[in-house]
Amino acid sequence: MIERRRTRQIHVGAVAVGGDAPISVQSMTITKTADVEGTLQQIYGLAAAGCDIVRCTCNEGAAAEGLAEIVPRSPVPIIADIHHQYRMALAALEAGVQGLRLNPGNIRKPEHIKAVAAEARDRNVPIRIGVNGGSLDPALYERHGGLTAEAMVESARQELAYFAEVDFDLVKISVKASNVPLMVEAYRQLAEVTDVPLHLGVTEAGPPPAGLVKATAGISTLLLEGIGDTIRYSLTADPIEEARAGRQLLEALGLRERKNVDLIACPSCGRAEIDVIDVANRALEAFGERKLPLQVAVMGCVVNGPGEAREADLGIAAGNKRGHLFVKGRNVAVVPEDEMVDALVEWAEFINEHGVDAAIARADTTRAEREAARDRSALLQSQGTDVNHADEKIVEIRKTVH
Ligand code: SF4
Repeated sequence: MIERRRTRQIHVGAVAVGGDAPISVQSMTITKTADVEGTLQQIYGLAAAGCDIVRCTCNEGAAAEGLAEIVPRSPVPIIADIHHQYRMALAALEAGVQGLRLNPGNIRKPEHIKAVAAEARDRNVPIRIGVNGGSLDPALYERHGGLTAEAMVESARQELAYFAEVDFDLVKISVKASNVPLMVEAYRQLAEVTDVPLHLGVTEAGPPPAGLVKATAGISTLLLEGIGDTIRYSLTADPIEEARAGRQLLEALGLRERKNVDLIACPSCGRAEIDVIDVANRALEAFGERKLPLQVAVMGCVVNGPGEAREADLGIAAGNKRGHLFVKGRNVAVVPEDEMVDALVEWAEFINEHGVDAAIARADTTRAEREAARDRSALLQSQGTDVNHADEKIVEIRKTVH
């Protein structure tokens, strides 16, 4: 058993980080955040691969506007990655993100740092102080005679002090470097001086397999010492690989339990055609302890559900009082709304026994796709295209950014 270091607990949306919370897995989308549908599809893929929290870049006004549409439809909390413009942090908060990541090496004016921290405090949104060895404040670099663990820790502590001035402490910290021994040393030093939860990672680890080895070396060394509350693999690869690696590492170290059915569900939004929470809970109960190592999605609407959860083995999306079953994103059957959960269990058992291809082969996909298209267009006609009021938020974002 690994004895974990005691840290304070914060919440990124519904995900607890620190304290006795399970160590969470993070990854980052590589789409343009302004591409809402493409980004959501990647987010659903990441969630299905075991990712608990997803970060999206917020580097321009269009990205913040995209976040206003992404956040209400994401199955996991979204963190906005901020680079040089503090106004982008304010815009991301306006968009409703559940967390921010600031790089102290990039936003250095104290008044800007404090303005963001005060706004995050008022909205109860946590910030990760993301120190990066490659973009350290030049003054610190000079004072410490180069990139050292001490310089990275000092950078984090300076930022913490600015946050404290505006009474903000919903913080986690990372001190990432691409050099594994340096990164390990920086986290060890940090763990000595603060009880803030720590986000572990080896930055720019590169493509697998070398990148996987480097990241695993750094992250697992620290986890085995009890250091670390949330992790991210930074690979030059499909981010799904990052999420899988994170999940697998935690399972290998006995820090996360293996699941049977991995049930993912959309968080519901203005488009939902069913009570998603109720159907997801009933599905969870129906699957119970069955040994079905499949990813199963419960989605509130057929407009976006099958596409957003296309990485799941099996899923169901509601529309027009009917349930549209899909396997790996392909519509396979239509069932009455009150038979959705039973149908999910039956299809999951079939897939577990015979595989995905056999499940698709037994379906009348042409009919199922035609029915789904019909219900999708009926919903779009009755609900319109902006059920989440993203347009109103976008007007506010434009006022913030311009
Ligand atoms: S109801 Fe539809 S659009 Fe809304 S989050 Fe669920 S699947 Fe996405």
